[in-house]
Amino acid sequence: MVDKYNRKINYLRVSITDRCNLRCIYCMPAEGITCMRREEILRYEEIHRIIRISTELGIKKVRITGGEPLVRAGIVDFIASLQNIGNLEDISMTTNGILLEDFAEELYAAGMRRINISLDSLNAEKYTRITRLGDIKAVLRGIEKARQTGFSPIKINTVAIKGFNDDEILDFARLAFENPYQIRFIELMPMGDAGGGIDDRFLSNDFIKKQIETSGKLENVKKNKNGTDGPADVYRLAGGKGEIGFISAISHKFCSSCNRLRLTADGQLRTCLLSDEETDLKGPLRSGRDDAFLKETMIAAIAKKPRQHAITFKDTYRKKCVKEMSAIGG
Ligand code: SAM
Ligand code: SF4
Repeated sequence: MVDKYNRKINYLRVSITDRCNLRCIYCMPAEGITCMRREEILRYEEIHRIIRISTELGIKKVRITGGEPLVRAGIVDFIASLQNIGNLEDISMTTNGILLEDFAEELYAAGMRRINISLDSLNAEKYTRITRLGDIKAVLRGIEKARQTGFSPIKINTVAIKGFNDDEILDFARLAFENPYQIRFIELMPMGDAGGGIDDRFLSNDFIKKQIETSGKLENVKKNKNGTDGPADVYRLAGGKGEIGFISAISHKFCSSCNRLRLTADGQLRTCLLSDEETDLKGPLRSGRDDAFLKETMIAAIAKKPRQHAITFKDTYRKKCVKEMSAIGG
C-alpha cells in the first residue's frame, strides 16, 4: 500500500507487551509505572489476525518488540504461528537480550532468523546503571548464543547518550570490525516521563560518524531495492567483518521514506512513532467486526499518516510524546 505522500507501507512493528525486565533510563521511569492490565493487552490470536490482515494491505516485514518481548509467556509458539501467514516475508525481534541465551534456539526453530539486541554500553557497571537492573554478562551470552544458533544478521542497537557512552564509540566500532554484527547508533528521543530525565543528553549521529572516521574509512553499504530496508544509513569499516548503521531520526529525519506502522500492546495502530495520534483496533476486534472493517480502519489510519514528525533538534530537550517508548515498542 502506498500512502498519500507516495511512501510504500510494508513494515509493521508489533509491541506484544509493555512489561520489561529492565528499566532503561531513557525508556521507562524508575518507579510509578502503571503497566497495562492483562485484559487491555491484545491476545496472541488478536495480534495474529491484525498481522494477517495487514499483509493483505502490503505489509511484508514484521518486527516483534515490547517492553521486552521475551518476558511474555507463549512467545515461541506465537512466532511459530506467524509462519502460516502466506505473504509475510520476514519476522524479526528487538530484545534487550537478557533472556536470549535461553530462547535463541527455540526462536530459530520457530522460524525467526533476524534479531536486534539492545546494548548501550560495553562496560558492565555502566550497563547496569543505564538499565537500572541489567547484567551485561547475560546479554553478551545471549548475543553469542544467537550467533552460534545461526541468526543473521545480528544487529546491536546502541542509543547514543552524551556524557554516558560517547567515550565508547570507538569500542563499539571495534566490535563491528571484529565481529559479523551491525552496530546501529540510535539518536536519543524524548519520550514519555522518561524523557524528562535525559535533558541535554542528545548526541547527533554526525558527531559519532566523525569520531569513527578517525579510526578508518567508512564505506557505504547499498540498501536493497525492494524498499523493506530500515532507516539506517549503513557503512562498513574498511576490512571489517561487520557493519555500522546510523539511525538519525532527529538530526536527519527520514520521514519521507518511512515505510512503517506500529501496533501498540493495547491494540492501537500508530502511524508515526513520534506522534501520539493512534487508531483503535482493539475495540473493533473485540466487538466482532469483520476483516473488511478492520482493513478499512487501517486504510483510514494510513491515510492520516503524518508527512513528518514534529520534533526538531532543540525539542529533544523537552518531552514530546506522552506514551512511554516501552508501551510503543521503539
Ligand atoms: N526491550 C527491547 C529492547 O530494549 O530492545 C525492545 C523494546 S525497546 C522500546 C526498542 C528500542 O527502543 C531499543 O533499542 C531501545 O534502546 C530503543 N529506545 C527506547 N527508548 C528510547 C529513546 N528515548 N530514544 C531512542 N531509543 C529508545
Ligand atoms: Fe525495557 Fe527495552 Fe525499554 Fe530498556 S529499552 S526499559 S529493555 S523496553
